[in-house]
This record gives sequence, structure tokens and C-alpha cells, in this order.
Amino acid sequence: MSTIWVLGNGQLGAMLQQSAIPLGISVKPVDIHSDTLPLLAPNDLVTAEREQWPETPITATLSQHPNFINGSVFGRLADRLSQKQLLDQLHLSTAPWQPVTDEASAEQLLNTLGEKVLLKRRTGGYDGRGQHWLKLGDNPHIPNGWENEAIAEQAINFDDEVSLVGVRTREGELFFYPITWNLHVDGILMASVAQPKFLSQDTIKALQTQAESMLTQILVALDYVGVMAMETFRLGDQLMINELAPRVHNSGHWTQAGASYSQFEAHIRATAGLPLAPITLKGDAVMINLIGTEFTPGWLSVPGAEVYWYQKGVRAGRKVGHINFCSFNQDALVEQLKGLKPTLPEAYRRVIDWTCQQLQ
Ligand code: ATP
Ligand code: MG
Ligand code: MG
Repeated sequence: MSTIWVLGNGQLGAMLQQSAIPLGISVKPVDIHSDTLPLLAPNDLVTAEREQWPETPITATLSQHPNFINGSVFGRLADRLSQKQLLDQLHLSTAPWQPVTDEASAEQLLNTLGEKVLLKRRTGGYDGRGQHWLKLGDNPHIPNGWENEAIAEQAINFDDEVSLVGVRTREGELFFYPITWNLHVDGILMASVAQPKFLSQDTIKALQTQAESMLTQILVALDYVGVMAMETFRLGDQLMINELAPRVHNSGHWTQAGASYSQFEAHIRATAGLPLAPITLKGDAVMINLIGTEFTPGWLSVPGAEVYWYQKGVRAGRKVGHINFCSFNQDALVEQLKGLKPTLPEAYRRVIDWTCQQLQ
């Protein structure tokens, strides 16, 4: 079978590679800054673990290969301007927005969009980086050089943040994971819960249907193959799209523990043109992100904890790993999370408490 090359060699590439081992598929993540050019065969396949990359001999080799899957999609979604335009074209609900042009001023943006406005750089932002708040009466200003490089969004007073991971095959078949409730702190994902209990099953079912319908329109419009994630804001029984990621996504990491096949395997299967089956669940699953914290062997003593450590240098605010839990018994899950609490820094109290609340 042909090799699947991954543009990028971070944790997502590593987990794609790991998920393909049971299927006997060779997945090769590529360091885009390496000195050696990868040698691709004509029938190899190419995917990406990131939505944007600098132009280098390596990224050119990968992205110009005739089997670079979804090649035209990356540029379109990596730029928030064209991503928002796509959502508008499809008449999908998204936070009201406008481009930050040369003529734009903080006052005009606040007048048009409301008393709190979030400026987001068009490209390159992640984990809440490249964002700047404008607030009435708080000396609002557009940062230097952001003209034409950012969009402005109305601040949304959402109930929760909910995401959907879906996969589309070459034949156009669609499969979706259950929508996931996400806690972000300062723009960084801290925890995900796949099957919360604080809402009725009917409400969750209706939200699932709504989310699937939105993501289906996007996947079909882009003739997309593989996994895509859609981040939304929940306002009552309505979802509003925050942003799209044309790749496997942090809020889908729980699928490694909680689903018949993970988002990583789903992406590999779809990319390789292999069949997918309807997704079945192994229980209620949660994921706790490890942010800027040293590896702690004590995590491994916590019952139920499935630890993923990315082998990256630890820096404040950096994603360095995650821990999954899965069980059909919510009380057991809550006990396991309580067991994890003392192994994590103080700031995690709130994160674990939020996660437990979702399950009760
Ligand atoms: P990611 O790491 O998910 O790619 P990102 O840096 O691309 O994140 P966004 O997802 O756009 O950024 O925003 C990060 C977080 O900021 C969101 O998850 C949400 O908590 C908050 N946020 C973003 N847009 C808005 C908005 N319009 N109103 C209120 N909060 C917002
Ligand atoms: Mg993003
Ligand atoms: Mg986001």
C-alpha cells in the first residue's frame, strides 16, 4: 500500500501515525524545516496536520504532489477572511464580523458590531494567539499593522462551546462523532466532555442534528475528504460557528478512548480510500489537556487515565499532552477525575470541577 505523508510532525502527525499501525499503513509525518527532501512515490498520498505552512522546498514537494488531499481547502480555511466568506455564502450562522480594512477604526467597529469586539489575525493564530479585544471605554485601538491582516468579530455571550468532528469519504459518505463540550481558558482548550448530562438527551440530539447539518454543508461544498472539526458557540438551542479546522482536532482526542475508531484512524481510513463503519461508543469520554506542565509519573497511577505525552519542551501555555478517560459509569468517571486532581497544578481545580459538573 502507498505511504501517507503528513505535512507537519507535531503531536497530531504522531497520533495519525500511531492510529495507522494496526491497519498496516505507513504514515510518515514530515518536519517542514528538515534539511532532507522526502522522496514521494507517484501513488503515495499526502495530508496535513496543520492548516498553514511557510513555503519551503519540503512544503512545496508535499503540497504540489498530485495526491495532496484537500489541497485547495487549506488556504481557504487558514485565512479567517475567506473562511468567514464561505460560511456567509452557505448561509451558516457565525459571529457577525467584518474585515479590518485600512479605513476601519476601533470606534467604527464597536459601533457596527457591538460594545465588545474581538479582533483576530487572519492567519497563523491558534490557542487564542493573534487576538485582541476592543471594549467600549477601555481605550480601544487596532494594534499596529493589523489593518488588512485581521477580521473583527462581535463578542458572543454563549452558553457553552461545542464542537463536532466529522469525516467524509472519497465516495461522499459521512460519519460524525457525538458533539463535544469544551472548556477554554484564555483561548486554550483545557477539557472536553463527549456526553454531558446537564442537558436533556432530546436537547443534545437536536443540537447534534443541527451541527451535523452545518458541517455536512461545508464538507460537501468543499468536496472534502477526511476529518474536519467545527467549533461552535451554543446559545440555547442554537449553534453558531466559531471556526473550522481542516484536520484532526484537539476536541476530538477523546475518541482515542471513547469510540470504535478514533478521529485519527477515521482520517487515515478516509484518506486511504478504505471503508468506514458507523461510529459506536465505548462509554462516556472526557479529555483533560496538559498545558505547560511537567511530565508527572503520578498520572499513570490514576485508575482509568490514558496518558498521551507529546515529548515537547514544556513552556507556559503550551500543549504538551492530554489524558483521556472513558466509562459507561459516570460516578466512576467522576471518581477517576477526582483522583487526577492532586496530580495536577492548582489551576486545574476549576478544570476538573467543570468536567465533573458536565457529567452529573
Ligand atoms: P484554536 O486553538 O481552537 O485554533 P484560535 O486561536 O484559532 O483557537 P478561536 O477558536 O477563534 O481561536 O478563539 C479562541 C477562543 O476565544 C474560543 O474558543 C472562545 O473561547 C473565544 N472566542 C473566540 N471568538 C469569540 C467571540 N466572537 N466571542 C466570544 N468569545 C470568543
Ligand atoms: Mg483556530
Ligand atoms: Mg478555536
